[in-house]
Amino acid sequence: MSTIKIARGWLFAFALALLALPGSAASSDRLRVVATIPDLGTLAEEIGGEHVQVRSLSKGTENLHSVHVRPSMLIALSKADLFLEMGLSMEAAWLPELLLKAKNRRIEPGQPGFQNCSDGWKVIGVPLNLSRKEGDVHPEGNPHFNLDPEGGLHLAAKVHEALVRVDPMHREAYDRNYEAWKKRLAERSKRWKLIAKGLAGKKLVVYHSEYDYLAQRLQMDVIASIEPKPGIPPSPSDVAGVVKKMKAEGAKVILTAAWSNNRQIADIARKTGARVVELPNQVKGASWANDWIDLMDGIHTNLAEAFELELP
Ligand SMILES: [Zn+2]
Repeated sequence: MSTIKIARGWLFAFALALLALPGSAASSDRLRVVATIPDLGTLAEEIGGEHVQVRSLSKGTENLHSVHVRPSMLIALSKADLFLEMGLSMEAAWLPELLLKAKNRRIEPGQPGFQNCSDGWKVIGVPLNLSRKEGDVHPEGNPHFNLDPEGGLHLAAKVHEALVRVDPMHREAYDRNYEAWKKRLAERSKRWKLIAKGLAGKKLVVYHSEYDYLAQRLQMDVIASIEPKPGIPPSPSDVAGVVKKMKAEGAKVILTAAWSNNRQIADIARKTGARVVELPNQVKGASWANDWIDLMDGIHTNLAEAFELELP
């Protein structure tokens, strides 16, 4: 027997031994999915079921535009078979360098393992000049469509499409799980439509413009964003302007995410007698936001309570 054949034999035996290690067979069988935010991660878990293992990079309580980068993220990305991002520059400040360092060709943009989940989405808030000039963190328009009551269906469709593309062998299971998710959504969203009727026309103030899709879908009136531009902290005169406008228009509710709930918001609330409603801006951002459907359900409940509506 030649030396090469012997070496091949050893390699084969070594590979078999690796497969026999406890736990390695099960995890190597599954598709390794990395998602930037838990909204995408939990959808991948629900639609992927037993065929995937999923890692979400953001914890759910972070500012999506400046997620804290950890070394374990690099390891997860370097091994991933499928990568899911929101896109529209949502992750532009922290992700590109991480993807570059991961050196994983399977999940490079343009490869089957890369999925921008904003593909095909109708974007609002596109600035007239496409640039990050003056620090605007929404240069391609508003990326927070995970907070649109109709955004979840778009995200689920993209996640399903990506799973089927990368792992067509399990298409039947992905189709079945996707159909079950859509059924659950249709059932749960009946309540949201009832609450929406009571919220139409109500006035709101937000800190960051992350609830614009939500307000638009619910036909609510966002009279001001406390940030003068997305990602730009307000000056004292910006704050004074918001107070003046709220008093003139009688707006009594300020919506904010936990990461941006700060002293300026408390100050505005004190001066206007407004109620501050802290909402998650992504899945896992509150104890009740376990997945996208729970997130949207809880947002509707919290809004209804803020405006003292009767809950259906
Ligand atoms: Zn934003």
